[in-house]
Amino acid sequence: MVVLFHGEMREMIQGGPQNTSTQDRFDCVVIGAGIAGASVAAELAVSMHVLLLERESQPGYHTTGRSAAVYTVAYGPPVIRALTRASGTFFREPESDFLSAPLLNRRGVVFPARKDQSAAMEALHDDLGDAVAKLDAAEVLMAAPLLRDGYAVGGLFDADASDIDVHALHQHYLRRFRSEGGLLRVDAEVTAIEHDGGWTVHTSTGSTTAPIVINASGAWADEIAALAGVRRRGLMPKRRTALIVAPPPGIEPQNWPMIVDVEEQFYLKPDAGKFLISPADADLSPPCDAQPDELQVAICIDRIERAFDLTIRRIESKWAGLRSFLPDGCPLAAYETDMPGFFWLAGQGGYGIQTAPALARAAAAIVQGRAMPPDIADQGVTEVSLGSIGRGVPA
Ligand SMILES: Cc1cc2nc3c(=O)[nH]c(=O)nc-3n(C[C@H](O)[C@H](O)[C@H](O)COP(=O)(O)OP(=O)(O)OC[C@H]3O[C@@H](n4cnc5c(N)ncnc54)[C@H](O)[C@@H]3O)c2cc1C
Repeated sequence: MVVLFHGEMREMIQGGPQNTSTQDRFDCVVIGAGIAGASVAAELAVSMHVLLLERESQPGYHTTGRSAAVYTVAYGPPVIRALTRASGTFFREPESDFLSAPLLNRRGVVFPARKDQSAAMEALHDDLGDAVAKLDAAEVLMAAPLLRDGYAVGGLFDADASDIDVHALHQHYLRRFRSEGGLLRVDAEVTAIEHDGGWTVHTSTGSTTAPIVINASGAWADEIAALAGVRRRGLMPKRRTALIVAPPPGIEPQNWPMIVDVEEQFYLKPDAGKFLISPADADLSPPCDAQPDELQVAICIDRIERAFDLTIRRIESKWAGLRSFLPDGCPLAAYETDMPGFFWLAGQGGYGIQTAPALARAAAAIVQGRAMPPDIADQGVTEVSLGSIGRGVPA
């Protein structure tokens, strides 16, 4: 689990303690300072006066700080893959005063398939096309040394899959936001939202008015909509469990690829000399501070020990996070048509880090009524594919 922002968060907050009688005016209020809110706020702050509100004292406390930190174009529905491809340029060649090291570290992902998963492997291969190469059983074993001999009859390989430095990416956006004059308030839970022509957003620390509210509250997006009198969209937060375990003595897996079951029933990823493992669970959960489920921990160990020559004696750490999906599995970056100025940025599922650079730029363009940036449009992303059915930009 990446723990973000220790002492450094305080210096990023402008304005200091808020007087509850204060009512500020902004062009836009963004609710939620995870990767979605931080990135779109940074894009908008270039030309708007933006307030970013976060309930927690650390903006990465929820899903953003709990991810597996993978970038792969071989994952998710078509719009996610398009956003991931469109984000690739920024990940590989970021133009930023706030980054001192590369954001990506190439790792590769192997998708092994058992005999009973051959059809699933063929289907995935058909779906992913050139994004992956086919491996035979011997090649899978060479690429994934701890996999049990005879476990896989073949597999797929995404050579370009990479680790993302999530902490650096998130900080880049928060610092850029601040440098553009944006104001971040942490420990500021949104408790009420009124629509009175514009929007008045009430928090535990004060109230703010703005013509535009952006709902980037992750697993709480339907709750924020309900507060604003906007219809819920059926967001489904799904819990995913992750464990850190030690490799066998003498094994240094740091440069090994990640191994993802071809039907995503488990994964194993080298992480700072250890293994990050997951049963790839997706149990529905209310929005909350997600905790690991003991049954899923047991399932994880069972699946990993069946696939790998690895005996797990001790769990070094474990956590869970919520991956939030809309019913169609696609992210929503659109105004609510009946409620001018209420903008959704939700439903990033298990892909919100790897899509953030392009999704933030696309969302900012839609918020401001601009055309989709050409490099994102070239990948096939449109306003409609992100859920827009009307303009909705406030007059
Ligand atoms: C185990 C796991 C593995 C993952 N692996 C990957 C991966 O490899 N690659 C990838 O791209 N993605 C991955 N993801 C998904 C990714 O982490 C998410 O899509 C992304 O972090 C979502 O960001 P967010 O900003 O929408 O949500 P969050 O980070 O949860 O941010 C939402 C914020 O809104 C705030 N908020 C909520 N309600 C209020 C309120 N009333 N007032 C003020 N603030 C409020 C919350 O406190 C929170 O900080 C993974 C997720 C998990 C759990």
